[in-house]
Amino acid sequence: MNCSIITIGTELLIGQVLDTNSVWLGKSLADIGVQIVSKISVSDDRADLLKAFQRAEEDAELILITGGLGPTKDDITKQVLAEYFGVDLYFDEGQYERIKAFFQQLNRSITDAHRQQCYFPSNVELLENNMGTAAGMLFRHHNKRFISMPGVPYEMKYIMEHSVLPLLAQESEKSIVHKTILTAGVGETVLAKKIEDIEDQLPPHLSLAYLPGLGRVRVRISGASENEAALKKEIDDISDKIVDRFGHYVFGFDEDSLAKKVGRQLMDKGYMLGLAESCTGGSVAKLITSVPGSSKYFQGSVVSYSYDLKESLLQVQKDTLLNTGAVSEETVLEMVRGAIKLLNVDVAVSISGIAGPGGGTPDKPVGTVWLCVGDKDKQFTKKLSLSKDREKNVEYSSNAALNMLRLFLDEKLLDD
Ligand code: AMP
Ligand code: MG
Repeated sequence: MNCSIITIGTELLIGQVLDTNSVWLGKSLADIGVQIVSKISVSDDRADLLKAFQRAEEDAELILITGGLGPTKDDITKQVLAEYFGVDLYFDEGQYERIKAFFQQLNRSITDAHRQQCYFPSNVELLENNMGTAAGMLFRHHNKRFISMPGVPYEMKYIMEHSVLPLLAQESEKSIVHKTILTAGVGETVLAKKIEDIEDQLPPHLSLAYLPGLGRVRVRISGASENEAALKKEIDDISDKIVDRFGHYVFGFDEDSLAKKVGRQLMDKGYMLGLAESCTGGSVAKLITSVPGSSKYFQGSVVSYSYDLKESLLQVQKDTLLNTGAVSEETVLEMVRGAIKLLNVDVAVSISGIAGPGGGTPDKPVGTVWLCVGDKDKQFTKKLSLSKDREKNVEYSSNAALNMLRLFLDEKLLDD
């Protein structure tokens, strides 16, 4: 089956809100083998909406729509859908009772604007939304299906996960299976070279995709078949072969992350981790603490941005800072040693670099970043030469720091 996505909201077109809904929808549909043929973002404007509905109906059998279902006047999706289908709106008592109960729970009374949310085009089939007041709507029109959902991402996801995806999965004859191998510390061309022969010999119902990120590459194997169990086994066997070739670049599969991986390693070893961050401004700490339960292995981070704090908190020597600068191998080494003492931890990671866009010199251009990881007995350093883009440099060096920690904890750092 093929599908068109329409995301509605003027805020999406003027750069106020990022359209994450279509990204999520695209991924979820691809996972169950539905092909996306087009996606379009439209403002809350009657004529533009009518045109978008028309075009999507020409393109696809299934049209997924998000946005424009709020209680405010700018949200007009429902009215325009009714006009497009040539039907009237009716008042749904059941929805009214549901919304009243929803507000009673919150100890609030229902407003007139919310009463408006209980009007629906008369050809609707309602889809439950447990997360908010706007119900999802399914319409069958000229052998096509239109599904309209609220723009609020968690409400849209609820309706998709509880009503739409189960319906579509039921209709599909073939099962789609994906497995994603997660790697860090190496580029996609090096990886591709390592598995060239495996890729060339893939049967036609399987495919391989490289998804590069900053400091990480995801390698996804996908397949479609009537026999799901056999397909899963086939994909697992190929994945085993690929992992064998990639070696220690692999840190996990599917929804795993570097932060989760180092968390498991630290727990296994019973180690506490501390950080000394300069140019990343706490972003490594943010990644570590995004994992539930990280308090068991994470002591904290010193965001020592200034020379003063590097000296006073981390005991970096004044001479080191004056002679080699804050962005140097010596400084990150002293930062790790200082952090181990100050934070009373087993392992520490430090980062100091020139994130840009200013601050570069001929021998230390923007994008120069020094990393160090170690315990009280041994420390390892690494220099990165990154880009001119501040945000990218921070993200890349944060991932590289976590990857270096992973390799250190696996005692793999020497052969990197
Ligand atoms: P609406 O259903 O139009 O009332 O949408 C409510 C809110 O959801 C908007 O104010 C946006 O913040 C958010 N939103 C709408 N569309 C999207 C989208 N495509 N991606 C992410 N957020 C969205
Ligand atoms: Mg809106």
